[in-house]
Amino acid sequence: MATVSQPPATEQISVENPATGAVVGQVPILSADEVRALAERGRAAQPAWEALGFEGRARVLRRAQKWVLDNQQRVIDTIVSETGKTHEDALLAEIGYVGSAFGFWAKNAPEYLADEKIRSANPFVLGRKLVVRYAPLGLVGVIGPWNYPLSNSFGDCIPALAAGNAVILKPSEVTPLSSLAMEEAMRECGLPEGVYQVATGLGETGQALIDEVDMVMFTGSTATGKKVMERAARTLTPVSLELGGKDPMIVLADADLERAANAATYYSMQNGGQTCISVERVYVEAPIYDDFVAKVTEKVKALRQGAPGGPGSVDVGAVTFPKQLDIVSGHVDAAREAGATVLTGGHANTSAGGRFYEPTVLVDVDHSMACMTEETFGPTVPIMRVADAEEAVKLANDSPYGLAASVWTKDAGRGEAIARRIEAGAVCVNDAQLNYLALELPMGGWKSSGLGSRHGAGGIRKYARQQSLLVTRLAPKRDLHMFPYKAGTTGLLGRAMKLLYGRGKRD
Ligand code: NAD
Repeated sequence: MATVSQPPATEQISVENPATGAVVGQVPILSADEVRALAERGRAAQPAWEALGFEGRARVLRRAQKWVLDNQQRVIDTIVSETGKTHEDALLAEIGYVGSAFGFWAKNAPEYLADEKIRSANPFVLGRKLVVRYAPLGLVGVIGPWNYPLSNSFGDCIPALAAGNAVILKPSEVTPLSSLAMEEAMRECGLPEGVYQVATGLGETGQALIDEVDMVMFTGSTATGKKVMERAARTLTPVSLELGGKDPMIVLADADLERAANAATYYSMQNGGQTCISVERVYVEAPIYDDFVAKVTEKVKALRQGAPGGPGSVDVGAVTFPKQLDIVSGHVDAAREAGATVLTGGHANTSAGGRFYEPTVLVDVDHSMACMTEETFGPTVPIMRVADAEEAVKLANDSPYGLAASVWTKDAGRGEAIARRIEAGAVCVNDAQLNYLALELPMGGWKSSGLGSRHGAGGIRKYARQQSLLVTRLAPKRDLHMFPYKAGTTGLLGRAMKLLYGRGKRD
């Protein structure tokens, strides 16, 4: 009897609630062939989506904006279930971000991608019409991390869709459920089938996606970002990379101490410290160091941590990614062994089945310790005393990363001058993270923190091909520079060039 071979059952990923350990979902690991099939479907669906024009696409995006707000409890529950973050962290930085982004890109895409009329000073193109236009790329691949499954995964699909592309999103294997919920949402809001698709899976699925798309928008770690760029080089596919950070906070002696301490506490612990632009290290001028440390320690001690319930139940949630607990513990333990003092926290807590790390304040730290130089990405705040602003700037820039930073002082002018000396893509004075909410303001990392940016005009133009048009209406049969070359004409052109570019004083 002939044996019939069965196709292998698709491998599945179990999605776990990090705050409880319960399994909350199962998603398939897509193979390269399955990703290719999604890509074909996306490419087939894209032209009709593009043909809807900005207004037609904006209508769908605005409907989706309303959907997210109408269904916010359901979306928050999904996010909380797969990340273990608090209700507020999901509301403020995920629902709030995507809610705003739908409206922003629906409104601004037509202007950012409008034809631009260009004027040129070159006499050779006199009378010609010069235009820059932006055409959608076709199929965009978005690869996202686990810390913001809605904002940093689906959020980057919104401008790509507004520009007229089809999109395939590869969410983190740790948090794929929010992206799948948005597939349902977009369908309900009238997005044509195939225009937004989700490719669940591990890193290999991400690699397969890179091979298929016209552009890759990646958010994740610097190490993976390098692999993404390497893979994309094979097909010369453009990439935009939003990577890790080690954001410094500089507190000057004249800062509003209470505000700075509240901000240090909030922006280091918000989302469990699992924010690319969270405060990862603090430098405080000597005169106020002791007071600042005392205030921050008191505030951090007061934080409530645990499995998130409804609104207001806890301040700090779980550690979403299993390996992250080892990284956070490793940084704190190594610092302690090297002489650092833990003023509060300093331990992992997995006793109730969930994965937590206590909100932690570290002092007596320096740049020989990983907690001050490598991305910790957890609820820790190491605070270092500095002699003055000069030392703070030097230490802030002593990092391979350059994502964001903040400077705290009552002298806003001096604060801005210091901000301009910091090697980071975004620097706030007397604030942190808020720049991310101004979608008009570009956000992208320097150094090992990224390549390209999101938000602003560049945040949607990266999803388009730029085409330059030169249109000539009236012209002679033969231009002066055309064949045959003649000595007389060449002499004339040479003199003309001297006249144009060779006259005038230089120094
Ligand atoms: P990660 O690099 O481990 O994974 C990110 C995504 O890449 C996941 O979907 C993963 O499956 C996929 N992936 C893994 N290997 C791949 C490969 N070889 N090719 C293609 N895709 C691959 O990052 P993470 O741990 O999920 O996220 C945390 C990191 O993200 C932190 O470093 C954080 O700072 C960074 N982050 C940056 C920003 C930003 O805007 N700059 C925002 C959020 C998070």
